[in-house]
Amino acid sequence: MNFDQLNLAPAILRAVQEQGYTTPTPIQAQAIPVVLEGHDLLAGAQTGTGKTAGFTLPMLQLLSSRPARQPGAIRALVLTPTRELAAQVEESIRVYGKYLDLTSTVIFGGVGMNPQINRIARGVDILVATPGRLLDLEGQNHIDLSNVEILVLDEADRMLDMGFIHDVKKVLALLPKDKQSLLFSATFSDEIRELANGLLKSPKSVQVTPPNTTVERIAQVIYPVGRNRKKDVLAHLIGENDWSQVLVFTRTKFGANKVADFLNDKGIK
Ligand code: AMP
Repeated sequence: MNFDQLNLAPAILRAVQEQGYTTPTPIQAQAIPVVLEGHDLLAGAQTGTGKTAGFTLPMLQLLSSRPARQPGAIRALVLTPTRELAAQVEESIRVYGKYLDLTSTVIFGGVGMNPQINRIARGVDILVATPGRLLDLEGQNHIDLSNVEILVLDEADRMLDMGFIHDVKKVLALLPKDKQSLLFSATFSDEIRELANGLLKSPKSVQVTPPNTTVERIAQVIYPVGRNRKKDVLAHLIGENDWSQVLVFTRTKFGANKVADFLNDKGIK
């Protein structure tokens, strides 16, 4: 499949092509048609799967193809758990929406409110926000969410892990009932399901398993070494690198005991 088959507007396809993307990722191929049809969506996708474009592209398409309910109103809200993610998502919206007549901005805590207030006062179609700052500004009457047509909860599981459940529920209470909601989460605990059940109306589900990836911040090294030298190499590495905390995995309990005894004998506690 390629992007041309997804029924996206030429202005959006052009921006996608400029990014050098030709083939939609699995989450994009599955989520984009569902969102374009106007369904609510429950999506299981981790970061790195291309999920951002998975909701951004159809959201841009829907907003640009129909009139606003209320001119000047916020038409789409994307909630994210962290400011870094909020900034990244808004950057994607700018990139993919560069040939469209839609505006966006991002708000998060930890920085001054006034530039955010001024930007919102000038009118934005798409608002990307973390829950705390959004509620602050709404509470001060700087934000009106009563005309939101599309809601995205991005990384909902992280949002709950970070203790934002009450804030998220408060935000949801400010939104109109009649809207399209998309919930993205890497994991599905009972709490996420409960949140999804309360929010989503007859949702379509899509689920992608991410390709096996490694954590980038962890360097991985292989030492090919004969069975009878493994413990020596381990002790050598620990001593050489002055490691103070090391986790060693073994295949058997017996092996674990032997490694521990060996290290203790070498003076490594
Ligand atoms: P995400 O999971 O949304 O954080 O995206 C992960 C990365 O994949 C980002 O750097 C995107 O720019 C990139 N990406 C998104 N969609 C595609 C695509 N269809 N082809 C190639 N790369 C993509």
